[in-house]
Amino acid sequence: EDNRRESLMIVTGYAAKFFHDSLLETEEGKNIGLSYFKERGFTNETIKKFELGYSPDQWEAFTSQALKEGYQQQFLEESGLSVKRDNGSLYDRYRGRVMFPIHSFTGRVIAFGGRTLKNDKSVPKYVNSPESEIYHKSNVLYGLYFAKKAIREEDNCFLVEGYADVLSVHQAGIENVVASSGTSLTVEQIRLIGRFTKNITILYDGDAAGIKASLRGLDMILEEGLNVKVVLFPDGHDPDSYVRNFGTSGFKKHIEDNKKDFILYKTDILLKEAGNDPIKKAEVIREIVESVAKIPDSIKASVFIKECSYLLQIDERALLSELNKMRMAKA
Ligand code: ATP
Ligand code: MN
Ligand code: MN
Ligand code: MN
Repeated sequence: EDNRRESLMIVTGYAAKFFHDSLLETEEGKNIGLSYFKERGFTNETIKKFELGYSPDQWEAFTSQALKEGYQQQFLEESGLSVKRDNGSLYDRYRGRVMFPIHSFTGRVIAFGGRTLKNDKSVPKYVNSPESEIYHKSNVLYGLYFAKKAIREEDNCFLVEGYADVLSVHQAGIENVVASSGTSLTVEQIRLIGRFTKNITILYDGDAAGIKASLRGLDMILEEGLNVKVVLFPDGHDPDSYVRNFGTSGFKKHIEDNKKDFILYKTDILLKEAGNDPIKKAEVIREIVESVAKIPDSIKASVFIKECSYLLQIDERALLSELNKMRMAKA
């Protein structure tokens, strides 16, 4: 069992080195992969630290090299690096993609995300490793190994959507950043962060998908008893593009100026949708109280009820009685 896990990690570790070398030492890797990363503004230091790589644009470049060096077919397949054809032979899952190794929080490579360089909507932008004995994606946060020290020190964790967001923000000197790449945020991921800090700041993309994901994430974080703030980026921006455009200080300023606790955030978003319609406004209030009802700490909950009452100009006692009703229904 443990032996199998170790064998798998030896294969993924080998693959990370293969892709990294192919990025830095082959003509194809340098011309295509490295120049792509350079264009995106990633420094050599970032490329080395995060072991970024390139998978050659051939059917079997990685698999045949790995087999030649004695890695077993079984582990190549189970790690998802190689895929079996009907005739039993193996081919490379990742071809002509830039590679983002995913590290366990102890620093072992356990999986990969591979980004296409094509601007073709019919090709998936990212291909991620399938689940395996060493990679349960709901338990993994991209970048955590490189972020955990800073998360403790800052007593806060920035949560972003993508690989590039983690890299750019980290490179900008803000190292307490992780992504729930390849999956929407899970309870296990929140608990993982909770080992290092009780404070999460969500920095999702400024598009409809980002807003939706942030609302969902926010309720889950509250339910786990952690504190959450949200910062939205202007539509069309994500943390990666924002920090590259406006630099570290511009990025920090944007966060300070736009950081909202969940009541303020939800109120802003939902009231915008509701407009002046009183029935819709009542819906909004109900939704916000529903979020408050998720907070396990009742003193904290009552503070938020006060804020809600002030912001929405609703009698506090009405909100409290609604809150109690919801709590009773849940119990
Ligand atoms: P980039 O800046 O490289 O274009 P991004 O990280 O901004 O990428 P988004 O479209 O915002 O890309 O997606 C956020 C994250 O969701 C990605 O980093 C990746 O982890 C995941 N993702 C995106 N597209 C796919 C896909 N087709 N399949 C699996 N995961 C995906
Ligand atoms: Mn997006
Ligand atoms: Mn992006
Ligand atoms: Mn994005």
